[in-house]
Amino acid sequence: MNIEQLYSIYQQHRSIQTDTRKLQPNDIFFALKGGNFNGNEFAAKALEMGAAFAVVDEAPYFTVPEKMMLVTDVLDTLQQLALWHRQQLNIPFLAITGTNGKTTTKELVYTALSAGFKTHATIGNLNNHIGVPLTILSIPPDVEIAVIEMGANHQKEIASYCRIALPTHGIITNIGKAHLEGFGSEEGVRIAKGELYDFLRANDGTVFVCNDYGYLTDMSKGIPHIVTYGSKTADYTGEVHAGDALLGVQVTGNSQVGFIQTHLTGAYNFPNVMAAVAVASHFGVPENKIAPALAAYTPSNNRSQVIRQDSNTIIMDAYNANPSSMRAAIENFAGIQAPKKVLLLGAMMELGADSIKEHEALVQLLQNTHWEAVVLVGGDFKKVNHPYIFLENAAEARNWLQQQQFTDTYILIKGSRSTGMEKVLA
Ligand code: ATP
Ligand code: MG
Repeated sequence: MNIEQLYSIYQQHRSIQTDTRKLQPNDIFFALKGGNFNGNEFAAKALEMGAAFAVVDEAPYFTVPEKMMLVTDVLDTLQQLALWHRQQLNIPFLAITGTNGKTTTKELVYTALSAGFKTHATIGNLNNHIGVPLTILSIPPDVEIAVIEMGANHQKEIASYCRIALPTHGIITNIGKAHLEGFGSEEGVRIAKGELYDFLRANDGTVFVCNDYGYLTDMSKGIPHIVTYGSKTADYTGEVHAGDALLGVQVTGNSQVGFIQTHLTGAYNFPNVMAAVAVASHFGVPENKIAPALAAYTPSNNRSQVIRQDSNTIIMDAYNANPSSMRAAIENFAGIQAPKKVLLLGAMMELGADSIKEHEALVQLLQNTHWEAVVLVGGDFKKVNHPYIFLENAAEARNWLQQQQFTDTYILIKGSRSTGMEKVLA
């Protein structure tokens, strides 16, 4: 059996599953391997549970030949099948990568495009070597535009996703410091994310570029089609209105999009919102539909969420953190007009040799502003000198917060995923 035959089985069912715990009848089961499991061991069980077909890569588990395909590498087959499906879809594919704000930008772009087109986007954060092919294979045939999030923590990763997704359009949200262990340096991050631009440059592609980031303007040189957005000279321009915790964006210039009252916090979401304005306008979504659509979007999963609790306003940004997103969040918080401001910040992870230095830089930044209280939690915050409260983990931070009985206070909660800072509110 070859990919073409597997594709015709896919076309009958159009539903892929890699986890028997989530299996639905008639799914096609792909027996992937992980660090602690071998999907091959579950293939026969998947068929018993009603899977239509199973793809395995170890001969001893090829036990039901009429309903199984034995391949060299299941992951590779999944990726090949995704490419095959991609090639049947004659529609724009917009790839989104960058250091910060990929998922937020993807959600905003999806929301704005959906006001004019049947759009399909990556679900949640499925942005890796498995998530990208699964996302492509979940695109129904009647979709008009696809939006694919691509994450990376080492070189050549984005290039490999481009070879599966064949993007026609692309966005690099920004380039900052994250996953420095895998990338080596910020320059390493630039090269890695730039693989998206490289692909589009070589394939007559279109990029949406935030002109506020000169490094993106420079990197995009030579790409055949460039659409720009931002606060300065650009095809789509806007201004930040951020008096309170929630961001407002006034779209300026010739656009009829108008004012967008978002449900996101942080001026750092301005480029994310403008990306959605640029993409939706470019593809021809009626301009009067864009602002209402974006205003109705509310973030989830502790990304830039604003929670009002009694007289307090909590900015819950505990989804993740790295030096650039921490800086953006703190600078934004410093700019908010509020009587009392408290920060609970979890440590940043995966920074390798730069870790102490980056935590020190953050402590420096904090000292520019007067805060009611600052609590630093866990990790390398323990190893740097600072005048603030240090606690070991999120549970201790929660207890601390409960004891304070703050009123009329703005509270920022942020930290790397593994510090679990969202538990501070639990
Ligand atoms: P991941 O690498 O986990 O997929 P992501 O790039 O998809 O992350 P989001 O999930 O959209 O990013 O946002 C994560 C956090 O990044 C937000 O909660 C916010 O603090 C921060 N962030 C979002 N947009 C920006 C931006 N433009 N600049 C700096 N920080 C940002
Ligand atoms: Mg993401």
